[in-house]
Amino acid sequence: MLSIDAGMQPEVVTRFAPTPSGPLHVGHLLAALQARRFADERGGRCLLRIEDIDITRSRSREWVELMHEDLRWLGLQFDGDIMVQSERFDVYAHALDKLRAMGLLYPCFCTRSEIKAQIAEMGRAPHSSLGYLYPGTCRKLPEDVIQARLARGDSHAWRIDMQRVQDLIGCPEWMDLHRGLQRSVPTLYGDVVLARKEMPASYHLAVVIDDAAQGVTHVTRGEDLFEATHIHRALQAVLDLPVPLYAHHGLLKDNAGKRLAKRDGARSLASLRAAGLSPQDVMISLQRALGNDGIWHI
Ligand code: GLU
Repeated sequence: MLSIDAGMQPEVVTRFAPTPSGPLHVGHLLAALQARRFADERGGRCLLRIEDIDITRSRSREWVELMHEDLRWLGLQFDGDIMVQSERFDVYAHALDKLRAMGLLYPCFCTRSEIKAQIAEMGRAPHSSLGYLYPGTCRKLPEDVIQARLARGDSHAWRIDMQRVQDLIGCPEWMDLHRGLQRSVPTLYGDVVLARKEMPASYHLAVVIDDAAQGVTHVTRGEDLFEATHIHRALQAVLDLPVPLYAHHGLLKDNAGKRLAKRDGARSLASLRAAGLSPQDVMISLQRALGNDGIWHI
């Protein structure tokens, strides 16, 4: 007989959301397994989402095909339909319109080198673990200048005014299952970019919209994205999206204790496969790494 409790628990839904910027790496495998196991242990579902919003990456399709091959080789399966972000730009555009209508976005015409120069001029520029903080130059542009530059077709990105966001929503909380209750600070990473011509939606915008669209209840991902959750929580609040629980897991490291870089081709799953390793060998190495502070040996 089902207990009342079991009947009332919402189904657990996790996701694996790789960005196809290269071949799948052992770090991706760890993220995929964490999501899969978290769902399996709770009788839930684990979905797959391809985060291919960067349309300047011409080889994305190739990497996605290789990813499917790697996942088949490993015997890793996901539930339901695969969500592909490059097919959802209209959804992100709609959210951007909403934020624009709320007066929370402004166009930023600064180039990367202009921003660098502005920061150098400021002497000790505000910095964060996610990189430099945008000094807010275009936030102060007069409306007529903005309209003239947009009409002229000047290249621009859309940034979110995080001070306004914070004034509007305060500092909402989120729960990290490993670290406990967290209070977000929307302004912590400055006015991040939410869209630009060659990337019609940023990772931050797409991830919150799609976690909601896929009904994700638990976001399991690497702790390198822990800080980004401040931004995600703020976006969820202004876009009125449901807030999943988070579980940020540790990352794989090399012998020197340095995080394994995604660009390190030697740890791609395809190269391990080509070197004659079996899926079991790879899984055993991963288990060993997890039992040894994340240090990966092959
Ligand atoms: N697409 C990201 C990556 O491949 C993961 C994003 C997330 O889990 O929120 O690193």
